[in-house]
Amino acid sequence: MFDLAIKGNKVLTPDGIRKAIVLIKDGLILDIVSHLPEDASVINVHDKILMPGITDPHVHINEPGRTSWEGFETATKGALAGGITTLVDMPLNASPVTTTVSAFEEKLLSATNKLYTNCGFWGGVVPGNDHEIAGLINKGVLGFKAFLTHSGIDDFPNVTEYDLRKVMPVLARQQLPLLVHCELSGPQPPVKDPQSYAEYLASRPRQWENDAISLMIHLCEAYNCPVHIVHLSSSDAIGHIARAKVKGLPLTVETAQHYLYFNAEDIPDGQTPFKCAPPIREKENNNLLWEALQAGIIDFVATDHSPAPPELKSGDLSQAWGGIISLQLALPILWTAARQRNITLSQLLLWLCENPARLPGLEKRKGKIAPGYDADLVVWDADKQFTVTSQTLYHKHKITPYLGETLYGVVEQTYLRGVKVYDQGTFTPPAGAIILRS
Ligand SMILES: [Zn+2]
Repeated sequence: MFDLAIKGNKVLTPDGIRKAIVLIKDGLILDIVSHLPEDASVINVHDKILMPGITDPHVHINEPGRTSWEGFETATKGALAGGITTLVDMPLNASPVTTTVSAFEEKLLSATNKLYTNCGFWGGVVPGNDHEIAGLINKGVLGFKAFLTHSGIDDFPNVTEYDLRKVMPVLARQQLPLLVHCELSGPQPPVKDPQSYAEYLASRPRQWENDAISLMIHLCEAYNCPVHIVHLSSSDAIGHIARAKVKGLPLTVETAQHYLYFNAEDIPDGQTPFKCAPPIREKENNNLLWEALQAGIIDFVATDHSPAPPELKSGDLSQAWGGIISLQLALPILWTAARQRNITLSQLLLWLCENPARLPGLEKRKGKIAPGYDADLVVWDADKQFTVTSQTLYHKHKITPYLGETLYGVVEQTYLRGVKVYDQGTFTPPAGAIILRS
């Protein structure tokens, strides 16, 4: 009949939160029922939340080549402990970067037998690799990523409009998404004090993002190519995005946890763990990001987990690596900030599970507790708090702006295809699958 039944008082289904029993057969959700025969064996999670596993489509794992920064084993272990059952790896900052078929083959080899969660891959678009795009698609990448400004590493140079015009028709034919880091470098005030957060913020103005987003909306419309704006930070661009969506353009947008949790006004000077690009902006800006998220103009929230070794994350704000470590904390960060705004768990479900599964084309398999979906599940306590310490993190590096924060939402168990693979600090051997576009 079924292999496993999980019963809970708070099951997050697409129709809302309710008391239910989820039946699992052959790794898939078979049905959601209200009653079972008395003698059936059932796991009861009582008042814990039973939710679909989280999908995070914006993660920098950096393997092969920069495994001193992060790696498949440590990143996916942290993810699993945080209730993330599917993630998509960015084409940088591994070495080689995932911009050629041979580099992708190397990446697949390096991921084998190390994945605690399911993992897909984005390919990269850089100047001059347009002849590699079809090959990367055939090999199974889920879409492509490009930068409109310096990416932080020289081996992944940014594209220009000219480069994008060569690849967007190809992606449009396959309806594969082009993910874009939207900052177009322009005038910037000189930095006098490299420890000053206010000066760092001013050095990457909203205008850079606004200009890049205008360009991408224009190209999205010109080619009918799915465009995804990663980590939106400038609230000035929200109106333009909303109008493009009303027009029906294939445009999607994510923001990151750190733009919703922190505000520039509260960031002390010299604190390199907060450095990221685009930067964390002012409270007034971030309140508008929240509104756009609630209005569905921003589709979902992804971590942009981008670690680097402590020696690269130190120094002053002009030198330090720009990237925030947060993968394992994706759920508690967002939930802690959301509950202060009376946001419901059903909204959280959209932002962490349903909508992010759509970007890599997994919406028929992941992100919902519904018949036929993969039984990737997370059980968590929404009312329990914990304090972030380096001992609680499984990532390779522990320098994160969330150290010392007390967060709501403790992940207790994680299931992959109906198998319990994480239970309060205990892991089974890696059981994550490589996800290729079929
Ligand atoms: Zn990123």
